Amino acid sequence: MTEERFDAIVVGAGMSGNAAAYTMASRGLKVLQLERGEYPGSKNVQGAILYANMLETIIPDFRDDAPLERHLVEQRFWVTDDTSHTGMHYRSDDFNEPAPNRYTIIRAQFDKWFSRKVRAAGAIVLCETTVTELALDAAGKVIGVHTDRAGSVIHADVVVLAEGVNGLLGTRARFRKVPKPEAVALAVKEMHFLPEEVINERFGLPGDQGCVIEAAGTISRGMAGLGFLYTNKESISLGIGCLVSHFAATLESPYALLDAFKNHPSIRPLLAGSEIKEYAAHLIPEGGFKAIPQLFGDGWVVVGDAAQLNNAVHREGSNLAMTSGRIAGEAIAAIKSRKHPMTSDNLSLYKAMLDKSFVLKDLRKYKDMPALLHTNSRNFFTTYPQLMSQAAQNFVRVDGTPKIEKERATTAALIKARSRWGLVSDAVRLALAWR
Ligand SMILES: Cc1cc2nc3c(=O)[nH]c(=O)nc-3n(C[C@H](O)[C@H](O)[C@H](O)COP(=O)(O)OP(=O)(O)OC[C@H]3O[C@@H](n4cnc5c(N)ncnc54)[C@H](O)[C@@H]3O)c2cc1C
Repeated sequence: MTEERFDAIVVGAGMSGNAAAYTMASRGLKVLQLERGEYPGSKNVQGAILYANMLETIIPDFRDDAPLERHLVEQRFWVTDDTSHTGMHYRSDDFNEPAPNRYTIIRAQFDKWFSRKVRAAGAIVLCETTVTELALDAAGKVIGVHTDRAGSVIHADVVVLAEGVNGLLGTRARFRKVPKPEAVALAVKEMHFLPEEVINERFGLPGDQGCVIEAAGTISRGMAGLGFLYTNKESISLGIGCLVSHFAATLESPYALLDAFKNHPSIRPLLAGSEIKEYAAHLIPEGGFKAIPQLFGDGWVVVGDAAQLNNAVHREGSNLAMTSGRIAGEAIAAIKSRKHPMTSDNLSLYKAMLDKSFVLKDLRKYKDMPALLHTNSRNFFTTYPQLMSQAAQNFVRVDGTPKIEKERATTAALIKARSRWGLVSDAVRLALAWR
């Protein structure tokens, strides 16, 4: 093995690494993929929603054998205070289409399946192998990797860094900085097991239809954060994530937050009688466009979470990971087919292609959004949710109070909580960040 030379080495067998390895191997490149986990998926934590379109672009017939849980027909967005939720629900029979748009998946099973496809495409996949360091030549070009297995450098023309959010290799090689605590969220998650019929009945879901709840508000105790509930076939994924800098500032415990979320009066009945089998914690890149590091250099490219390619505003990550992995693979295959070297200049093709994709277009569009929500988190995650709940209750409670008085009370509460100037300033900043 150590004597062999590869066209490409992919570090990591998550969504981005598998997409890159599959794309290159299926175009005839000699690919080695290294994964530190016992098997692909063993280290991966995701809610998880799979966005079908991005996988379909890579493996068009994936629905034939991929381990999919439910296809999603309903999305509930909730704004919570301590005793209520105000919701917007979108459910459509259009999502019962022949090739559904979104599915819930369980990453440990899904990543194993994806990895089988990578092997079938011709890549060599080695698990339980940690890449300890990148190998560089005297000019600073990446020429391969060192691993924790005995042996010398494994050589390749290019190394694809698909090592996830921590990105230690890239950081050690000074290709990127350590992500700042205000640019990453810590998410904790549990799996609640329930019989399929109970889930179907509780959420009004026939067959393998699924529902997602995403909740923001007082559940994050003033921190910028989001709670989620995803229905799988025989389980519910429940989790909550908040900015690491906010955890540090408030000293809130992630587990206490998750415990409070699952005991929220709107969530508790949905989980009643479930058996909890798994608990996991993981970081999520949250810095958006401004946190993206250099994406390529001499002999290397970086993809997925390691490149901070995560759209926190739209709660999308794995699709950006898969797409950046695919595009990196296509760019490398194109350079190889022209018999050009894997120099920084040539690998800039990856960035040029990514610029044209939804990945960088979306992240660029919302470039000011993460900072706005992060720096004004108490307003957006406590004050406004509480006011929304008061207004909703005022609207639906019938107690003989004249409607004009109710409307005045709602307006007065709004101004008392934020002042006219505060409201205008939040609205303007939100509009500017969203434009
Ligand atoms: C709680 C939670 C919920 C989420 N929900 C969703 C969701 O519903 N939908 C969605 O689209 N996204 C979601 N995401 C985001 C999504 O999981 C990530 O964007 C996606 O997994 C990134 O893929 P990746 O391949 O870049 O990194 P990862 O999936 O993290 O894979 C990195 C891989 O590299 C391996 N590795 C790291 N270092 C080394 C090394 N030195 N040597 C060898 N191997 C190494 C790791 O073991 C790992 O397998 C969620 C994330 C979390 C934490």
